Amino acid sequence: RLYNEVQELKGNIRVYCRIRPFLQGQNKKQTSIQYTGENGELVVASPLKQGKDTHRLFKFNKVFGPASTQEEVFLDTRPLIRSILDGYNVCIFAYGQTGSGKTYTMSGPSITSEEDWGVNYRALNDLFHLTQSRQNSVEYEVGVQMVEIYNEQVRDLLSQDVPDASMHSVNSTEDVLELMNVGLMNRAVSSTTLNEKSSRSHSVVSVHVRGVDVKTESVFRGSLHLVDLAGSERVGRSEVTGDRLKEALHINKSLSALGDVIFALAHKNPHVPYRNSKLTQVLQNSLGGQAKTLMFVQINPDEDSYAETVSTLKFAERVS
Ligand code: ADP
Ligand code: MG
Repeated sequence: RLYNEVQELKGNIRVYCRIRPFLQGQNKKQTSIQYTGENGELVVASPLKQGKDTHRLFKFNKVFGPASTQEEVFLDTRPLIRSILDGYNVCIFAYGQTGSGKTYTMSGPSITSEEDWGVNYRALNDLFHLTQSRQNSVEYEVGVQMVEIYNEQVRDLLSQDVPDASMHSVNSTEDVLELMNVGLMNRAVSSTTLNEKSSRSHSVVSVHVRGVDVKTESVFRGSLHLVDLAGSERVGRSEVTGDRLKEALHINKSLSALGDVIFALAHKNPHVPYRNSKLTQVLQNSLGGQAKTLMFVQINPDEDSYAETVSTLKFAERVS
């Protein structure tokens, strides 16, 4: 009862926390994290073990532990994907510090094995299966765009020298895999290493679905935005200068703008501040109103990441 009331209040915003496995390494220690998956509670213990705030409690819609598979994570995402074909706009984000598993959740560690597929391939695959099963009653067209936002500039990852993000028509999961490979390659071109650049830019895959009812000829549209956000780690002004500082300030600005927009939507504030960053401008039509939003909050269990983990969880708690 209470849970439903909370859901009602927050409208169409859900937050799932995912804790990535502890990856063994020299001198590495693990933060103690206790959680209950279904009712979404999570307690993190401070490595200092004294003073106040030795244990912090957070609550989200759901917590996925280190043993959760890509398939399990997707099962709880699937109803959202299905609503796109009913004409909803859906946004899915992965938020967290670099190395916390954002790309693992959204894209997966590799695309060669289906088991590894992250949310984006599974979502598209599911969409195609659904459209095919309904093809006698509805004719669907599916288009895909892929951009990255770096230093408040939007760059098309699928074609060069076009003023707006190019739209590519796709008919199968294979088409999508091919396009995303092109996008990932273009993303890597201008950077020394893929991970270096990808952790400091946001990548947005947008899927637009248009359906025409064969009998009534009525048209409806739905969309899906899959966003692998830039790393949320705070960079001290004393630690960096020049380009690196500029990047950090841009990331900071756009992540707080995103937080402010989701916060305003969750609290049904009359003014939603979309104009404060490129990221929120790009997503403006898909956030709010009848749109549904899912945020994956990614947690790195390393003890030396504790401060970032708490800051990540606080960000997510504010918007959830
Ligand atoms: P981010 O995109 O947030 O920087 P990555 O997705 O690249 O983080 O993950 C960092 C490392 O942790 C990678 O080696 C990745 O394969 C591994 N990893 C992340 N999440 C999981 C998971 N759920 N299971 C196994 N390994 C994971
Ligand atoms: Mg990444």
